[in-house]
Amino acid sequence: MSPAAHARDVDLAQRVARLGTETVFAVSAEAAALAVQGKTIYPFHLGDLDLPTPENIVEASLAAIRDGKTTYCPNAGIPELRDALAADIGRARGLEYTRENVSVQPGGKPVIGKFLLALMDPGDEVLYPNPGFPIYSSLIEFLGGVAVPYGFREGAERFDLDLEAIERRITPRTRLLILNDLHNPTAAECSAEELERLAELALEHDLFVLSDEAYFDVRFQGASRSIAALPGMAERTVILYTFSKKYAMTGWRLGAAIGPKPVVDVITTLNVNMESCTSHFTQYGGVAALTGDQAAARAMMATLKGRRDAALAALNATPGVHCLTPETTFYVYPNVTGAVKLTGCDGHESFRKLVLERTGVSFCTRLHFGPALEGEDQYYLRLAYSGVSTAQIQEGLGKLKALIESYT
Ligand code: PMP
Repeated sequence: MSPAAHARDVDLAQRVARLGTETVFAVSAEAAALAVQGKTIYPFHLGDLDLPTPENIVEASLAAIRDGKTTYCPNAGIPELRDALAADIGRARGLEYTRENVSVQPGGKPVIGKFLLALMDPGDEVLYPNPGFPIYSSLIEFLGGVAVPYGFREGAERFDLDLEAIERRITPRTRLLILNDLHNPTAAECSAEELERLAELALEHDLFVLSDEAYFDVRFQGASRSIAALPGMAERTVILYTFSKKYAMTGWRLGAAIGPKPVVDVITTLNVNMESCTSHFTQYGGVAALTGDQAAARAMMATLKGRRDAALAALNATPGVHCLTPETTFYVYPNVTGAVKLTGCDGHESFRKLVLERTGVSFCTRLHFGPALEGEDQYYLRLAYSGVSTAQIQEGLGKLKALIESYT
């Protein structure tokens, strides 16, 4: 019998049937298969960066390795990094945190599961964004909760949070709210009023909030806001922080949970149970990132802004496509309803495949971020421009434009 046949006989835990994944990896595999056949691929599908980690961060970690920081370290992270995170995150949000509020993590992603393990009982309802990072609903359901989606509405200038849906879906079983302001995939950002209304709802219904702030520092102008800074919210909010995006450190796996001490202490006990500690020497890189020269991070944002502008110019010149201008994240989320209709495609997936096969432009669609909600009748793509050069953006999206024009 082959190993695969053996695998089918395994009596897996029932909860495994509820475990989701990130389907973007399937898009990657499809694009890679076409590349092997010699096709030029324009990789807009994966939210990873093709830019190097700043040199001072690399040097600090290498020095730490040479200095013997290759042992276990405290479960909550090294004190220097916890202090630096408390100071940086507090300063940027107008809040006071100390190291007691910080638990260092191997990336931002682990904060999601640990937050749920600390605060969600089986049967509890959790509000989460859809479209949204697919790990929220995967882990809510996997851990026995009930995932309750809320969406966004496209306006003339911005995506609005569907606050009515959020209010309507709060029940006596609703315990938690997951908010990803500066949002993947739409790049939407809450207005001050939206944040205030969410905070009111959280206080009124005694909800605890996971504020996924993965893109808090990835912005081209203006200043980010955190729901944690609103009155009464710091004591009921856990912030997901990551070094991945701001410092081009996705593969380092370095992030943190920041929040009220009783919850952060549980998260640290989960660290003990799951990985003991985050890689010791990478944490020195984190200290250098936060306390060192920010010139490289600024230069990275300038590069990303050039790419955003190139992507917006090409998309908004394409028939049947329009795209709002986001000031944050490295995603654009164009509405392609007209283009889908022009090509005669019957939905997101057939349009994605047509474009990939004909032009090599590879991207995710709305459906990679959750099933469409009732009443949705528009088609959207998510293009990540973090891993494609401006020249590639112009070339690839030029091909997309020519393809759609051939149908007009
Ligand atoms: N939250 C959001 C919204 C994300 O897009 C990502 C990464 N794509 C993460 C969390 C996790 O990032 P990481 O684990 O690399 O910190």
